[in-house]
Amino acid sequence: MCLAAATASSPARCLSPSSAALPRRFLRGLLGAPPGPGPASARPSPPLLRRCFPFHRMAQYWAQASLDKNKALVDYLKQYGAIRTDKVAEVMETIDRGLFVPEGSPYIDSPMPIGFNATISAPHMHATCLELLKDHLQPGMHALDVGSGSGYLTACFAMMVGPEGRAVGIEHIPELVASAIENVKKSAAAPLLKDGSLSFHVADGRLGFPDAAPYDAIHVGAAAPEIPQPLLDQLKPGGRMVIPVGTYLQDLQVVDKNADGSISVRNDTSVRYVPLTSRSAQLQDP
Ligand code: SAH
Repeated sequence: MCLAAATASSPARCLSPSSAALPRRFLRGLLGAPPGPGPASARPSPPLLRRCFPFHRMAQYWAQASLDKNKALVDYLKQYGAIRTDKVAEVMETIDRGLFVPEGSPYIDSPMPIGFNATISAPHMHATCLELLKDHLQPGMHALDVGSGSGYLTACFAMMVGPEGRAVGIEHIPELVASAIENVKKSAAAPLLKDGSLSFHVADGRLGFPDAAPYDAIHVGAAAPEIPQPLLDQLKPGGRMVIPVGTYLQDLQVVDKNADGSISVRNDTSVRYVPLTSRSAQLQDP
């Protein structure tokens, strides 16, 4: 496969297998040969790059530092009361928020821009929604995340429902779906993306995603003027939806579908989310 890009002035050039073989000895000296048979004393000494520049140590250090900061954020959310259960603490510790925030400070309790007039929600809102939905995110259950944005909460859902369950993220900005997938690939949820129990789709979330319905849990990450009927239809009896409803003044509503199919709604808290709208309306607003 050729990975070089062609431009108008310079046509794409690919290394043929024979030309790629030429610098192999030089590169092996630099990067190290794969471990061969024989006793350890007979193996080559550490490669030049690893001896001179401990990049791998620095990468390990930064990964650990960011996990420590994520843990500190989770501890703060526990003290503040947004995280009340071990289950939610565990998943928020496992999914490093730093991997989902393209700019700004990922480990402070504030929403951050992710482009396209969208934000990753504040950590206390993620914690609140996970606490409200946790009983509907048991292993093997189905979860829908409408307006999946950065992909953070969908990844948390996927970790909770596990490989036997389904976690679906719906987002109407294709670029955000692409970046959510890249974010998840770097996270603890990567294997679930690979095995298909976690997936992201470009679509209008107001219509839900019938393919994996009915859902035990539905989360809507953008404020709807009213609860979309297709989402109510795709909620399983016994299932729960958490959705911000309103335009300027919004309430986070908890919608339970009872065993007989009837609906109970209560307001949890006042919130401020970006609107659940059309793609063109979202991209028009400054
Ligand atoms: N839970 C996400 C929230 C992102 S902000 C996170 O924390 O990262 C809300 C998201 O809803 C935005 O990414 C926006 O593009 C998306 N959105 C708004 N209206 C939508 C619609 N009709 N269909 C799908 N996604 C929508």
